[in-house]
Order: sequence, then C-alpha cells, then structure tokens
Amino acid sequence: MGLLVHPDIRSLSPYVPGKPVEELQRELGLTRVIKLASNENPLGPSPKAMAALSGAQTALHRYPDGGGTQLRQAIADRWKVAGDQVILGNGSDEILGLLARTFLTPGDEAIMADHTFVIYKMEVTAVHGKPVVVPLVDWTHDLESMARAITPRTKLLFLCNPNNPTGTMVSAEAVERLMARVPEDVIVVFDEAYFEYVRNPRFPDAMAYVKQGRSAIVLRTFSKIYGLAGLRIGYGVSTSEIIGYLNRIRPPFNVNSLAQKSSLAALGDDEHVAKSRATNAAGMEQLEQGLRALGVTPIPSETNFLYFDAKRDGRSVFDALLREGIIVRHIEGTMIRVTIGLADENAAFLQAFKKVLDGARQPIVREL
Ligand SMILES: *Cc1c(COP(=O)(O)O)cnc(C)c1O
Repeated sequence: MGLLVHPDIRSLSPYVPGKPVEELQRELGLTRVIKLASNENPLGPSPKAMAALSGAQTALHRYPDGGGTQLRQAIADRWKVAGDQVILGNGSDEILGLLARTFLTPGDEAIMADHTFVIYKMEVTAVHGKPVVVPLVDWTHDLESMARAITPRTKLLFLCNPNNPTGTMVSAEAVERLMARVPEDVIVVFDEAYFEYVRNPRFPDAMAYVKQGRSAIVLRTFSKIYGLAGLRIGYGVSTSEIIGYLNRIRPPFNVNSLAQKSSLAALGDDEHVAKSRATNAAGMEQLEQGLRALGVTPIPSETNFLYFDAKRDGRSVFDALLREGIIVRHIEGTMIRVTIGLADENAAFLQAFKKVLDGARQPIVREL
C-alpha cells in the first residue's frame, strides 16, 4: 500500500487537532475541562447568528445556494469591492487548498515562514509544490528575506498576519516594501484570520492592494472572532480574475446553508464583535500579568492567543495541564500557545500552570 503513495504525501505528518473536551473528560474523569487550544471565541457566536441558525433549519432538505449570493454581496459591500471579488470557503482552510491547486504545478515554489500556520505547507506539498521556508526574526515574518527568496518559479507567498502561532504582526510599511518587490505573477496571500482582534494602528490595509488590482488575496474567517468555527466558513477577497480561477475548481456546494445564514447575521452584529474584542483585551491583560508573575514573558500579541516559552519541555507542560483539565497547544520544543478565554478560564489556567511549574520545580529542589 505504501508503494502507491506519492512520496510528497508520505512526507507529511497528519494535522493534530486540539483534543476534544468530551474525550478528555471521559479519559481523565474530569468534571470541568477548559479548552484554550484552538483560538475560538470564548463568548460563542453572536446571538443574531444563533437566531438565524434556528430559522435556517426548515430548509435542510435543500441544497445551499452554491453561489452564496447574499453573503458574498454583504461581504463585498463591507469591503467596498464587487461581488465577483469574493469567494466563500469551507473555512478559509479550503481557500488555501484551492489556491494551491489553482496556481501551483509540480515543482512551483510557495514562500512561507518557518513558524506559521501549518496548512500552507500541507496544501503546497499535496499538489507537489515546493514550500520555501523563511525563518522568522524576533518571532515575526522577515519580509526582506521573503522578498529575496522569490525566484522565477515562485507562484505564491503566504503572509500570515498576525501570525499563528506567534501572535506577531508585520506593519504597513514593511508590507509596502515587500509589495514593491513582488512581481505581478506572484500571488501574495494575506491570511488575516485574526484581523478583527488587531489593535496596532500600523497594521496594513491588505484590501487596498486588491483594490489596486495587485495579485493579492485577503483571507478572513468566521471561525475566530465571529465564533462559528464549528460551521466551517471563511472567505477570500481578491481580483475578479483570481476569484474566477478559484471558482473553476471550487466544489459547487462547499459552504452549507446554516453557515451562510448564520455568518450573514454575524457579519452584521458589530456589537458582538466589539464585545468580543473588549473581552479579549481584558483577558490578554490578565494572562500577560499572570504569566509574568510566574516568571514567563509572553510574546506581544495582536490576536486572541499568547505564545510563550515555558522554559521546560513543552510536551510535559501540555500533559500536566491536561491532567488539570486545561487544554492548551504545545507547538514545539518549550513553546506553548494559549487561547485567551473568559476571566474565570484564564484564572483557572494560571492556577493550573502555577501548580505545574511548582510541581516541576520540586524534583530539582529535592536533588539539591
Ligand atoms: C484559524 C485560522 C484560519 C481559519 O481557519 P478556518 O478554516 O476558517 O476555520 C486560517 N488561518 C489561520 C492562520 C488560522 O489561525
């Protein structure tokens, strides 16, 4: 069987999703499990999205609107582009896959950071493209080096802004310098899954490049601040030409009717977005202070998560937190990513983390 698998596919490791809450509860017999692993909105979806969802249930025997007409137009109006400049995806993840399949032929290069969203590498490799990996500098995309990595075979350049898992962003000025160097036949993919959380005024206006007709696509999602991760819906905004090509291979009914209806309502609920931002800002303050009090300095974040060096084996920290009923994300080495939750969830995490650190310190003390 192994012989039938393309070596590119064999080279990939399967994506390891965050542990489901129910599974952990069963395994460890815990009554309370707090999931701070997948950057979901701890407040849940907008009440308006929930209402739209119950209204949509009567039409479940019908196929969804394959064109996503209403939602696409609402997104287009919001960003002041034409309806044919918007594509909907089964999560923005799906659009990443469509980009790879549409624009890469085997051996074509796609530039990405070394410490970024893992799906880029997966989708590029799946179509036998070549991921060209550029190291972060200070946990931040190094756009100078990314520009230098462009060759005649480069077709895509992934810019995760702000970056997952580090939480850092690149500024408008840095992006402007990059865009001045990117040739027209390279598509810059601005993955802005955490856009609505950004507070830094120097964040770039990536949509402006699309409006100038540059080869760029801006990806956004309803999975993060909009709280609809379970429904799988995201979107891309680009030139009508690029969107037109993506649509040629998009599965016709890729976004289900519940997702379309509820995200349309969510998009119109600015109040819920504002409340979510405020909750996140307060939670970030709480977690940053709490972590610093424990001797840990998180990387400054423009998102709804914090990334930090736990200064001890991350896998053990992850496991020890699991036993305390807290699910975080172990990325690699000593690095941990924690999603900002509600105040009591953050407090529970800090308490558990303190316990884990104290527990880890004890054996060393006894050895002395
Ligand atoms: C969560 C996330 C996405 C969005 O995923 P969906 O498929 O829309 O749920 C995309 N990019 C990054 C960097 C993310 O963190």
